[in-house]
Amino acid sequence: MERGKRVSETHVMVFPSPVQSHINPMLQFSKRLISKGLKVTLVATTSIDAKSMPTSINIELIPDGLDRKEKKSVDASMQLFETVVSQSLPELIEKHSKSDHPANVLVYDASMPWAHGIAERLGLVGAAFFTQSCAVTAIYHYVSQGVEIPVKGPTLPMPFMPPLGIDDLPSFVKDPGSYPAVWSLISKQVSTFQKVKWALFNSFDKLEDEVVKWLANHQSVKTIGPTIPSMYLDKRLEDDKDYGLSLFKPNTDTCVTWLDTKDINSVVYVSFGSMASLGEEQMEELAWGLKRSNSYFLWVVRESEEEKLPTNFVEETSEKGLFVSWCHQVEVLAHKAVGCFMTHCGWNSTLEALSQGVPMIAMPCWADQPTNAKFVEDVWEVGVRVKVDEKGIAKREEIEECIREVMEGERGNEMKRNGEKWKELGKEAVDEGGSSDSNIEEFVAQLVCS
Ligand code: UDP
Repeated sequence: MERGKRVSETHVMVFPSPVQSHINPMLQFSKRLISKGLKVTLVATTSIDAKSMPTSINIELIPDGLDRKEKKSVDASMQLFETVVSQSLPELIEKHSKSDHPANVLVYDASMPWAHGIAERLGLVGAAFFTQSCAVTAIYHYVSQGVEIPVKGPTLPMPFMPPLGIDDLPSFVKDPGSYPAVWSLISKQVSTFQKVKWALFNSFDKLEDEVVKWLANHQSVKTIGPTIPSMYLDKRLEDDKDYGLSLFKPNTDTCVTWLDTKDINSVVYVSFGSMASLGEEQMEELAWGLKRSNSYFLWVVRESEEEKLPTNFVEETSEKGLFVSWCHQVEVLAHKAVGCFMTHCGWNSTLEALSQGVPMIAMPCWADQPTNAKFVEDVWEVGVRVKVDEKGIAKREEIEECIREVMEGERGNEMKRNGEKWKELGKEAVDEGGSSDSNIEEFVAQLVCS
């Protein structure tokens, strides 16, 4: 059979966890597969409450048993999700097996290692998609080889990484008792992925060079990122300006209109992603730190966080600040008025800033964010990390100083130059023939032949 026909007959189901930061990269990866001629179905689950859906991709909904209004612990939600989806996902695949276009590949979120068994049982090629960095995955691997956790020493000596202090480790390694179900899932990830043929990472080789090589000794690693909407990177996917499936409603026009009135590199963009929640004291310190810096700022305060803002702060800072509940983050980062990004260092936010060359002020909260912050400051040299006091709070004076350093200091200029370098390398990776593009091509070629 000719290759073109085999390509168009390959049907890939892509299945992310129902959270914004997993949907975004897996949706972008789906668009890349479609651009190579494959048929793709994005599998979403019923608990997502989407405010916008992409039109360029076929989406199917399956039950997941979760109810967003019902408060359940992370552990209990994960258990329920696995139980319900272990039934509803096979049902969807079976339904398609009776159609003209049966699914033959399942790209599942690596945070659901149990999905690999579903692919195997139903005769599909299974590929794990990692929405975290290779470095974080390597740390999980390393500590699973028998390092005692919580880690006791002042540093974790990994040969291919900068010395990692306790506060640079993912929170699940620093304190594995905090979320027992997550730690047990990570252990399962490590053992499952030693065996899988395809492990796709939202990263690129030059960004994590040594780490990728080390990890490749232990499991398959194929970097396919950064998964940024193409018009902000290589511009090869026409009109691809937005992820497309949003669980929040963005105030896009408001942001751009406001940014258009500001000078180049004059605005601090502040956002802590879709999940992180700052304590009231931290929120207050951040607010006054921003005010003291005297910079313009655009601050994403999700509706659930609004009440933590100091009384009258929005009114008092209306000359300098714009507050929105959600924005089109990549578009904001790409705007010439934005001079730095105060971020929790979620992996997507980190990659988005790197790929737009925007320096960062890292204020990590939990999960993989401390490790991402370490790399931002010490490996990629595109940011500073705020120092915290004994209670873990970054005080207003510290926040002000970090903003001034990045916005006004010589070190800030150096970070901008480094940012430009990573931006170029990220673009190169996904451009035709780049390392990530070649890995996607190889993936497609193997699927077509299998
Ligand atoms: N995001 C956005 N608008 C916002 C804030 C965040 O579009 O106002 C997007 C951002 O572009 C990123 C995702 O939400 O793709 C957040 O993912 P990340 O991994 O940074 O953090 P998480 O939400 O997992 O904490």
